[in-house]
Parts: sequence; structure tokens; C-alpha cells
Amino acid sequence: MTAPEPFRYDAEVQPGEIRHLRYEVGETYLGDPVEIPVTVIVGEHAGPTVGMTAAIHGDELNGVKVLQEVADTYRPAELHGTVVCLHVCNVPGYLAQQRYLPIYDQDLNRSFPGKERSNTAERMANVIYRRFVSNCDLLLDFHTSTRNRTTMYHVRANTADPEVRRLARAFGANVILAGAGDTGSLRRTATDAGIPAITVEMGRAHRFQPALIDRALEGVRSVLAEFELLPGEPVTWPGWSRVIDEAREKTWLRADRGGLVEMQYGQHPLVHADDTICTITDHFKRGERRVAAPFTGLIVGVLQNPVAAPGHPLCHLVSVDDDTRREIEREIEAGEFTERPWA
Ligand SMILES: [Zn+2]
Repeated sequence: MTAPEPFRYDAEVQPGEIRHLRYEVGETYLGDPVEIPVTVIVGEHAGPTVGMTAAIHGDELNGVKVLQEVADTYRPAELHGTVVCLHVCNVPGYLAQQRYLPIYDQDLNRSFPGKERSNTAERMANVIYRRFVSNCDLLLDFHTSTRNRTTMYHVRANTADPEVRRLARAFGANVILAGAGDTGSLRRTATDAGIPAITVEMGRAHRFQPALIDRALEGVRSVLAEFELLPGEPVTWPGWSRVIDEAREKTWLRADRGGLVEMQYGQHPLVHADDTICTITDHFKRGERRVAAPFTGLIVGVLQNPVAAPGHPLCHLVSVDDDTRREIEREIEAGEFTERPWA
């Protein structure tokens, strides 16, 4: 048996200890510290360190609730390894209830690993990455759709890497969108540095959505079991699970006229070629324009804002192969989607 080790950032949390702390990542105009809430739970037994991050986009709140629960659930006596929760990474965005860092609208999730002497976002990213993420062995990064849209519950992961694939599968989402991710995103930066990372996309911004939060908490428990931080088997095996390859057809359907949008698709995210996804009409309910699915696929994101101008995104559609389609159809038959836990 190897002895458990402390978690080191620029201090140490000892085996058997839970520490809730606030860590300074910047400074306001008033000279006050900008601090992110962090929980470190170091198990009494040796094992890997799993990092979890939320609100890198400041208005994406489902993950914030997930991490509050995670930090309140696991205890050192049971853990074989360490759990590190960065509850709110983008504190300025969170306070302003917006996605980007205020004033210059910098995207924290394009700023990793960051630099010590650069713009605000890169400085914050640098502290977060160097002090915490680089000391983790695995990473779960929680996101939602951007404002005015919602997203089907899914995972994004670079499944070409076997350990990332293992992590993504253990999390247990039905749909895994495969791909390396954007340059400067935390997921890509960590994965490229040998820290397997996945992004969890869940629902919409500005909300707590209990069904999705519960599902993500099961996913976390399953990951902890898969990587043996907890005894037992991974608990979350979904009825079906598909990796949708980057090379598969996907598209954002966009409005080609302005007007009022009415979503027409059914209670589940599968649409067949030429199904009506939505209609757009003018204020006199005339000139209806039908927006149809160009191919059979899964709706992974939809507009929530009911008004659109030409060019506005309406729906993110990813094509699926026949096997996946049949599996999803079986799940629809079985009632998997009746309560829209996916949206
Ligand atoms: Zn996000």
C-alpha cells in the first residue's frame, strides 16, 4: 500500500483533510482580491486526483450546483485519492451573470494555460491552471449552453486518447461528441498536457436544472468508481451510449428570415430527414417559413429565445448512423425521453 500524499497548490492539504478556501486569481478596480471558492478533499488512502471546474463561463450555473453537492458529499475516510472542486472559475463573469469576463469580453475558456504577464483572462487562467489543474490527474469541466439556447446533456471529449475515452465512458452520458476542442480551452489544454479531461454540457445558462444536476452527480460518482477513488463498480451505465465522431455531419441550422420562432419537433431529440424542426412567421402570422432537418440526426442544441433575425442559430444538429438511430428509437419507445431530462 502506498501512503496517501498531500495535495499541493502553494500550500498543502494533508491526507484526511477537507479544506474550503478562497484563492486569489486577480484584483478588482478597488484593489480587492478576486477569489475563487475551492474545495480540496484529500482521501485517507492513496489514489488519483480528480479536478472539477465550473462557471468558466460565468452564467453557466448547473455545474456550480453540481460542485456544491460534490464538495458536500465525499469524505476523506472513504476516498482513495483526492477531489478538487473549483466552484466558480470566472468570478467576475459570475458576479455580472455573464459568460465572458466583463468589460473586454474575454473568453476564459480560450485563455488556457494562460500567462503570468498578459491580459486579465490569461492571468486568471494561468493561476487556475498552474496552481490547481496541473496538479490533477483527471479533469471534469462543467458547462451549459450559452444564453438563449439549451443543449442536450452530453460529453465532449478527445476520444482518440484512450484514457480520455475511459473517462468519458465512465461519466455515462448517452452522447459523446468526439473532438480535440478549441485551442485555449481548458479541456484541450489539459488533455494535451496528459491530464485526461472531458467537458460536460448540460442544459441552459442562468438555471439550476435538478434532473440534469442529479444525472451529473451520478456521473461523478461513476468516474470516482471507475478510477478507484471509491470502492465498487462504476454506477452509471446509460441504456445506450454513442460516440459521435468529429467527422460526422453536423450543422447549425440558421434562420433565413426574421420573425417569431415556434419549435415543432417532438418530445425527444431525434429528428428524421425533412422533419419540421421549427417554423418562423411574421407578427401577422403570415409568410410561414418551415425549417426542416437536412438529415436524420440528434438535436444537441436549440434556440431558447423565440425571436430570430436572419443568421441567428436555431438548432445544432448532428447526424447519426443507423445503429445509433435504432438505439435511440428503442429508448424513445421505452420512455427515456418523456420528461425531457435531456433538455
Ligand atoms: Zn461554457
